[in-house]
Amino acid sequence: MQATTLPNGTEVPLLGQGTWYIGDRDESRAEEIATIREGVELGMTLVDTAEMYGSGRSESVVGEAIRPVRDRVFLVDKVMPMNASRRGAIAACEQSLEVLGTDRIDLYLLHWPGPHPLEATIEAFEELIERDLIGSWGVSNFDPDDLRGLPAQPQVNQILYNPSRRGVEFDLLPQHRAQRPPTTTMAYSPIEQGRLLTDPTLTRIAEARGVGVAQVLLAWAIREGDVVAIPKASTREHVRENAAAAALVLTPEELADIDAAFPAPTRPQPLEIL
Ligand code: NAP
Repeated sequence: MQATTLPNGTEVPLLGQGTWYIGDRDESRAEEIATIREGVELGMTLVDTAEMYGSGRSESVVGEAIRPVRDRVFLVDKVMPMNASRRGAIAACEQSLEVLGTDRIDLYLLHWPGPHPLEATIEAFEELIERDLIGSWGVSNFDPDDLRGLPAQPQVNQILYNPSRRGVEFDLLPQHRAQRPPTTTMAYSPIEQGRLLTDPTLTRIAEARGVGVAQVLLAWAIREGDVVAIPKASTREHVRENAAAAALVLTPEELADIDAAFPAPTRPQPLEIL
């Protein structure tokens, strides 16, 4: 599995695993746990969750899934903005660790900009690092101005990015890449939650290469080698396909076809959020 490096030097795989809506159905729990474990075995060792997802149900499944392989997993979790005060973020993290059944979150993100001063949230994150409850901190859904308002550099900005959501290529991705060291971009909903799976251009490319449309989307998201994509899969079949996408390199012609169907932005656009 190819990897990129966070500003603090930590290596993370270009393909990780998302877990929104994981844990919502009891009857799916065993397969979801098997899926996350298989993904880890296949090199998708970065696992993303949030206290918001199913009010802890996703964290609960993730915690159980990674327990036997905890040392090999890079665990990403997120605090809800309304909880991200100086004291609230500490309490939220302790609660998440309890639900996860682990003693450390590797990367803790502010889920989106919220009501509390960023200085207070970052101070809380720094205290969590000192206490070794988290390894590092980052943000999510921050637009260029939001990023400029941060008192220190985040490890990552987790944002919506796929061919139908390319506005970030105009200013946000260049801003991440201009930092020294660059801020890592983490692309969420890289499969657009399934809505791009029937797109005619992507389907044609996938059929010609003998791969799935999801694999084309993942290969596209990580094509530059510095963006981490975190597709969510609920089945082992899907996670296997997703891991295999790391080996798929799109040709210049295929990339040009995608550009024609989903033009790159030519002016700033408001950051899209799901
Ligand atoms: P996504 O990963 O773009 O799409 C998930 C959908 O794609 C599911 O329906 C899944 O089906 C399907 N899928 C996965 N692999 C497939 C394959 N190989 N072939 C066909 N279909 C496949 O959507 P997402 O869950 O919104 O985004 C990914 C992760 O990003 C989330 O789970 C979450 O961790 C994170 N996220 C973060 C934010 C934020 O605000 N920071 C917002 C949204 C998402 P099955 O479930 O049936 O496998």
